[in-house]
Amino acid sequence: MADIEKTVIIGSGPAGWTAALYAGRANLHPLVLAGDGLTRERMPGGQLMFTTEVENYPGFVDGVDGQKMMAVLQKQAERFGARVHNVFVVRVDFGARPFRLWHVNELGGEEEKLLQTQSVIICTGARANYLGLESERRFENNGVSACAVCDGALPRFRDQPVAVVGGGDSAVEEGTYLAKFASVVYLVHRRSELRASKIMAQRALSNPKIKPVWNTVVEEVLGNDNTGVTGVRIKNVQTGQRTTLECRGLFAAIGHTPNTTFLEGQLELNAKKYIVLKDPFRSWTSVEGVFAGGDCCDPVYRQAITAAGMGCKAAIDAERWLAEQGIL
Ligand SMILES: Cc1cc2nc3c(=O)[nH]c(=O)nc-3n(C[C@H](O)[C@H](O)[C@H](O)COP(=O)(O)OP(=O)(O)OC[C@H]3O[C@@H](n4cnc5c(N)ncnc54)[C@H](O)[C@@H]3O)c2cc1C
Repeated sequence: MADIEKTVIIGSGPAGWTAALYAGRANLHPLVLAGDGLTRERMPGGQLMFTTEVENYPGFVDGVDGQKMMAVLQKQAERFGARVHNVFVVRVDFGARPFRLWHVNELGGEEEKLLQTQSVIICTGARANYLGLESERRFENNGVSACAVCDGALPRFRDQPVAVVGGGDSAVEEGTYLAKFASVVYLVHRRSELRASKIMAQRALSNPKIKPVWNTVVEEVLGNDNTGVTGVRIKNVQTGQRTTLECRGLFAAIGHTPNTTFLEGQLELNAKKYIVLKDPFRSWTSVEGVFAGGDCCDPVYRQAITAAGMGCKAAIDAERWLAEQGIL
């Protein structure tokens, strides 16, 4: 019978590496299942592998390239004994202990391999939903973003017009945040009223810098490789009329999708598929011995630093729980 791990960490973004650092220093000899890189959501290193500028992670005075930052976090975790497999977990059985996890290998192979572990820390993140336009991908990090708090203060958007797509709470939040920096924020929404809560919608619409563009969809992001985004081609869904909206940024605010499909039926998830934590101060999930941290259980903040903090909590909780079980 194969060895039973003490703790397995699923995911290698800021939450996963921080959990690995703490679990490593606590002598849990954690195994990190980092993702196999087959798609964007399966990338070892997580979402920050797709950004060039992280300016709001403490410790980096001049900001840091996302890939460099993740390489540093990985090294720090490995220094304390974290082991890393670039694999993707496809299913789990949390019905009995030791827990069982099946993953496919890093070469994208279909063959499932079984792992057994006494405890699990889930840090699988949540991916931002984009519009799915080819031109949107082309201008990512060059004017297209899905996070106003991350990117809104960058020089490229200061005193410039920007567009936010969406009509829910997050679109209104993003728009309101961006209005601090941008000259004008176009709130592009396919309907004629916002879905956001009344109070938030009112606050946004009474902001003189926020201009709603109703009944409208974005069809293409316009720009060039030097300047980045220069505008968006939009279509009024009622009249069919197409126009160009000049802006230097496009922020997609159409929600996030937590990477939790493989947990369905095994753990309590909320209506939006985020992992439910049993206590707001802890990382306990609905299954004893299974802990979670980062964006996969945080529909609110979704920042690298909050994810790292939650990864830290999860590792400490896992260590204490293993000690209580007499496993350490
Ligand atoms: C373009 C971009 C720019 C951003 N810029 C900033 C910024 O400047 N500042 C900031 O604070 N935040 C920023 N964010 C947000 C930040 O990236 C996230 O809040 C943070 O990465 C969340 O960390 P996490 O560890 O929870 O998850 P993630 O970073 O999403 O990592 C999830 C990990 O889980 C793995 N995974 C998923 N499913 C499985 C599975 N089944 N099996 C194995 N592995 C799996 C993935 O491969 C990945 O390694 C940005 C996000 C994006 C997309």
